[in-house]
Amino acid sequence: MYTKFYKKDIAARKAVLAQDHRYDESLDTPLPESVYDNMIENAITAYELPMGVAPGFLINGKDVVMAMVTEEPSVIAAASNAAKIFQRNGGITSHVESRFMRGQIAFANPKNPQEMMEFVENNFSELQHIAHTAYPSIVKRGGGLHKIETKYVMNPDKTHFLIVYLIVDTQEAMGANMMNTMLEAVKSYLAETFATEALMGILSNLTTESVVHASVRLNPDTLKHSDLIASRIKQASDLAMVDPYRAATHNKGIMNGIDAVVLASGNDWRAIEAAVHSYASLSGTYQPLTKWSIADNGDILGSITLPMPIGAVGGSMGIHPKAQLARKIMKFENAQDLMMMIASVGLAQNFAAIYALTTDGIQKGHMALHARSLALQAGALAEHLDAIVTELTQTQPMNLEAAHKIVSKYEGRE
Ligand code: NDP
Repeated sequence: MYTKFYKKDIAARKAVLAQDHRYDESLDTPLPESVYDNMIENAITAYELPMGVAPGFLINGKDVVMAMVTEEPSVIAAASNAAKIFQRNGGITSHVESRFMRGQIAFANPKNPQEMMEFVENNFSELQHIAHTAYPSIVKRGGGLHKIETKYVMNPDKTHFLIVYLIVDTQEAMGANMMNTMLEAVKSYLAETFATEALMGILSNLTTESVVHASVRLNPDTLKHSDLIASRIKQASDLAMVDPYRAATHNKGIMNGIDAVVLASGNDWRAIEAAVHSYASLSGTYQPLTKWSIADNGDILGSITLPMPIGAVGGSMGIHPKAQLARKIMKFENAQDLMMMIASVGLAQNFAAIYALTTDGIQKGHMALHARSLALQAGALAEHLDAIVTELTQTQPMNLEAAHKIVSKYEGRE
């Protein structure tokens, strides 16, 4: 159904999605002014980005079409290619390790930290009752305060902090607002009980309890350069583990896909960026989010483990028509489903990047897309675009000046 999807025009692509029950024209509508004026302050207009799809993902035996919002050429092509390679090898296996949000209440220089810690540790039920009374609807939905932890930090200058962490099951929501409401309530109660002032109460974006895993096993014979590809991919992975300069770019490539799906789904991509990069730094050295190794039989083993505090409800998701269209396209049933899809796209994006980098290099593919962008910047009209791009890719040096010259010739502006 999705064969040569990239060669179809936009109407034909939508027709394929519709045939696969993944398209709803009523959701394919610009964001109404009445909505965006209420989403942010001082709104003046809506800012558009392209939305595309990457078909071909097979995750836990289920076909997935990824909805992606990005301004960067080659991201969707790379994801689709990797998805097809993964599919030929049996697809992606994924699971959610855990899904809780963490929030913190911090006390600066409290007089009796030991007593406070003991109180918190010994009065879970009471604190849970306070949190649940502040936000009862999450309890009715099956979630709520799951656990409380404490941490005491003494600084070299003798200033000190007591931190109380709430670990909350936010069910289908990312849960920032429900968490912050619970934190406020528990913060006020503790401050009153110990006649002390709290410094702050806010959720943490380092979500070590909201973690997803995805993995693939690839037979090198299904890839180009089958004799050396396994060792090259492993070396690319090893390099990212020992060199933070490479790890940053390695992870940026992963985020090319992840941000695109997070954005399409209407989730908070800054929260995901903060979660992912702080998680990658947890050991004290910035580390890659994926790992590639070679199995005893020579197969390539790839895996990704990362925090993914997204929601399937809440925020702007229910009011943004394109976010609802993205859900229609991806058909995720709940937040855990979406977490697994996002981890899978990250693994695919990483594979596509290191496969290209360690074989043909990425410039070959990128330059064709760059030529298209230069031609458009130089004012190429749609009917001449392909011819102009072909000529531009054969021109040295390939730059905006060259694009202007070729466009002038075609558009009769000489
Ligand atoms: P919401 O405040 O929108 O809360 C979730 C909503 O979804 C609630 O109204 C809840 O209903 C409803 N809901 C319906 N079904 C369910 C279900 N099954 N499980 C859970 N909730 C359900 O969103 P979040 O609390 O998720 O907060 C996300 C927003 O917070 C994002 O927009 C983010 O940008 C922002 N934010 C992020 C911060 C950060 O990352 N540091 C800080 C502050 C805000 P009900 O009302 O009945 O409970």
